[in-house]
Amino acid sequence: MLRITSLKKGIVIDHIKPGMGYKIFKLLELDEADCRVALIINADSEKLGRKDLIKIENEIDLDLQALSILDENLTINIIEDEKITRKIELNLPEEFEDIFSCKNPRCITNSERNIPNKFKLLDEKKKLYKCEYCDHFLEVE
Ligand SMILES: [Zn+2]
Repeated sequence: MLRITSLKKGIVIDHIKPGMGYKIFKLLELDEADCRVALIINADSEKLGRKDLIKIENEIDLDLQALSILDENLTINIIEDEKITRKIELNLPEEFEDIFSCKNPRCITNSERNIPNKFKLLDEKKKLYKCEYCDHFLEVE
């Protein structure tokens, strides 16, 4: 078992499907974060066999609900004083801003700098989202 320095305060994104950890890391732009971040790949998991996890020191302002689009089974724990004080339940958000960008090159969000990306839920079962501005479907690669 790999030991990681315990976290005093921050966020742990746990039970990430193996291989998805790096994607989420990039998506949340954690490589540019100015706090300590640990990405652990292929940790042992009783539930999944293997899992990825991400530990973020400090509570940062992230739209974590949007991660449910990538992986609905991951869990998010808020840590204070080295204990889990809160678990964030993931549900597909009705709408969300900014975390994903619209892939339509002609979309206004790609030509105007100050317009945030916005997506609305169209179909919960299919996890289908549409861009608020151009009706292009959300593509998560
Ligand atoms: Zn668009």
